[in-house]
Amino acid sequence: MLSVKLPLALLTLTMLLPSCCTCTCSGSSSGKIKKGILNSYLFKAADRFYPTTEISSADKFPRLNDKQLKEIEQEMADLLKTIQKLHSKEYNYVNKVFVGRALAKADAKIKITSRNVPICQVAPDNATIELDVKIAQALFRGALLDYFDHTDVFFREQFLKVSDIKPDEPDREGKIIKTFMKKKSEIERTATHTCVGDVFDMVSADRLEESSWPQLAGVGLSSVGLMNRYQGSALFMIAHEYGHIVLQHRERLKKAREEGLKEKDPIAAECQARAGLESEADTYAVVLLTNLQGPIPMEMVGMDKITGYDNFFRYVYQLGGFPEDRQQDCSYPDLDQRRILARSVEEAIWQKKEDALSMELDKQFIKLIEKSQ
Ligand SMILES: [Zn+2]
Repeated sequence: MLSVKLPLALLTLTMLLPSCCTCTCSGSSSGKIKKGILNSYLFKAADRFYPTTEISSADKFPRLNDKQLKEIEQEMADLLKTIQKLHSKEYNYVNKVFVGRALAKADAKIKITSRNVPICQVAPDNATIELDVKIAQALFRGALLDYFDHTDVFFREQFLKVSDIKPDEPDREGKIIKTFMKKKSEIERTATHTCVGDVFDMVSADRLEESSWPQLAGVGLSSVGLMNRYQGSALFMIAHEYGHIVLQHRERLKKAREEGLKEKDPIAAECQARAGLESEADTYAVVLLTNLQGPIPMEMVGMDKITGYDNFFRYVYQLGGFPEDRQQDCSYPDLDQRRILARSVEEAIWQKKEDALSMELDKQFIKLIEKSQ
C-alpha cells in the first residue's frame, strides 16, 4: 500500500500547488531547475521586498509598484484556489469534523493593500480576503528566520552558509537576508544548459560538483525546506481566513452577540465567542492542510512545514505587527496556546490516518494469506 500511495501523495501535491515545489524533479536540465528556483514565490518575494543589496533594515516597508502588487495578488489567489479545491475535495470529511456547519463552497477573492498596516482579514462583504504588503513581507522574513532556527545544520549549510551569524547577534535578520540575497545572485550567475549540455558539462568539469546540474539540483533540494516554510505559512493564513467564510463565522458571531445580550456580561460573552471562532478557523486550516499531504507526513519525504502554523505563530504573527494580546477589545488566545492547539489537531489526524492505514494493511495481509492457502 505504501509504495502505491506515496507517489500518489506527491502527485496530488504537485498538481495542487503552484510551481515552487516541482522545481527539483529529476530529469530536468540545469536550465529548467534554475528557472524553477528563480520563479519560485520565495525568490520573487526577495526581489520585491529587498530590491537592492543595501539592506538598511529588515522591516523597512517596501515601496511596490502596481505590477508587483498585482503579482502578489495573483500568487495569493493561486493559493486560495488550492485551498478552495481542497475544501471541495475534502468537503464531506470537513463538514463532519465541524458538525454540519461548513458550506459546500463559498466565493472568495484576494485584495492586496499597501498601507503598512497589520491586516489580513475578511472584508464586510464576507468574500474578500484583504491582505497588506506588510504581512506578505512578514511571510518572507518568517520563512528565513524559521529556516535559520529550525533546520538541521547540515541541510541548512548546503544552501545558506549562516553558521557565522550567532543567534543573539544584533541585526541578525538583516545579515540572514543579505546571505540569502548573495546566494540568489550566485544562482543567477550560474551557467545553465540543456539536458545534453549538462552531460557534457559534467564530463568536462574537472570536479563533478563544479558542473551546473549537481550544483543547482543540490540548491533546489536544500532550499525546499525554506520554500515550504514560505508557502506553508501563506497557505495556513489564507486557509484560516477562508475558514471564517465557509464556517459562517460572521453569521454565527452575530447570533452569539444577540444571545449574549441576555447574559450578565454581554462583552465577555462576545469575546468568548470570538476566541472560539478564531480557534475553529485555526483548526479548519490545520485539518485541510494536513489532508493536502495524503496518507503520509511530508516530512518523511523531505517536504515538511506545509501545514505552516508553526512558522506563522512563532514568527510571522509578530513580524507582521499583529497585536498579540488584544483584538476588537477582547483579550486574545495566547500565540503559544494557538500553536499547541494546532499541533495537537495535526497529531490527532495523523494518528487516525496511521490507524486506518494499518487496518488496511492488515486486511491486505489476511487476503494474501487466504490466497496462499
Ligand atoms: Zn481569524
